[in-house]
Amino acid sequence: MAGDPRAISRLSGSAAEARSRAREDSMERQAAPNILNPNEVSGDYDASRMLMTTLGGEVRPITADDLAQFRHNARVAGRRFKGGITARQVIDMSLSVDRDRARRQINMAVPSAARGVRGSNRQVESLEVRFITNAGPDSDVHRHHVTVEFTGYQTAIASGAESVKRAAARVRKEGVRFDCDCGRHRYWFRYIATLGRYNAGRPETGFPKIRNPKLNGVACKHVLRVMSEIEGGSAVQSFLARAIEKGRQSEDGSGHIRQRKKEAERLAEKQAKRPKGGPAGTGDRDFDRSRRALRKQSRATTTKPKKVANGSKRMQALGGSDKARDALVATARELGLTPEQAVAILQGGKG
Ligand SMILES: [Zn+2]
Repeated sequence: MAGDPRAISRLSGSAAEARSRAREDSMERQAAPNILNPNEVSGDYDASRMLMTTLGGEVRPITADDLAQFRHNARVAGRRFKGGITARQVIDMSLSVDRDRARRQINMAVPSAARGVRGSNRQVESLEVRFITNAGPDSDVHRHHVTVEFTGYQTAIASGAESVKRAAARVRKEGVRFDCDCGRHRYWFRYIATLGRYNAGRPETGFPKIRNPKLNGVACKHVLRVMSEIEGGSAVQSFLARAIEKGRQSEDGSGHIRQRKKEAERLAEKQAKRPKGGPAGTGDRDFDRSRRALRKQSRATTTKPKKVANGSKRMQALGGSDKARDALVATARELGLTPEQAVAILQGGKG
């Protein structure tokens, strides 16, 4: 199957498209009436707002217990990403459902442009690279824009001791910040990225009380496809090398480069031809490496154990909330009981 040619067409207009989607996103956010703000999560919440959550599995109004759980989840997530995140970690910490979608549905991730990003002291601090990916089968758009900031860029251009090639290889392994314009990133993951301070776009401070109250996962399928190309693809390597070379030559270290349209088309075509399944090795080294990256067992970032034993599931039903269940499970353990035994006793007590 050839890739969606509409994803790569009008490459020169892609920057404008990305900007207009960012504007739309920010206007929608400003108009959104049901945002749960940080001060409310901290306890300053007026219950008459009747905001809803899906914590516990059903849509229902938020309680004080929920707010305590949200605070706990945010603390855990904040701690998890202390010290930033690398492309490898984004893949490792992602949910398997997102990696699966990346592998099956997203067959193209091409860097389209790069520029240096300045910090508060006007110094170039990182390199921002815009990637274009195709959209999944159920999407209402043809492509998505993924932004990745490489934090190792400043060192790469400041030190000429390292060859451009080696500097690019190092930058690929160092810290990244990222953003995607898709709904999954906006409503599930952007809040977590903001907590972890690896958001490359607009920060999101509204708690994802409906979509992702447990703050599970880290990246959408578009970001994951891009990260796997950063990990394994020679195209990203040579694009970064070009940007670093440009950054070293230009006085202000801006590293502003664009992908040539012909090259972008060639890359997209090459990626789209890759097989979707089959044997582990195809002979295409870039592809094999990026696919291996997406296949690896993940240490998905979930805020509770993945498997809930049968007994503790019933405890959840008895307790009525995750928190109550956890307390019951802990108590049972202290008494030397399995969750099943504890449930039997509790149910026996009720008659
Ligand atoms: Zn996305």
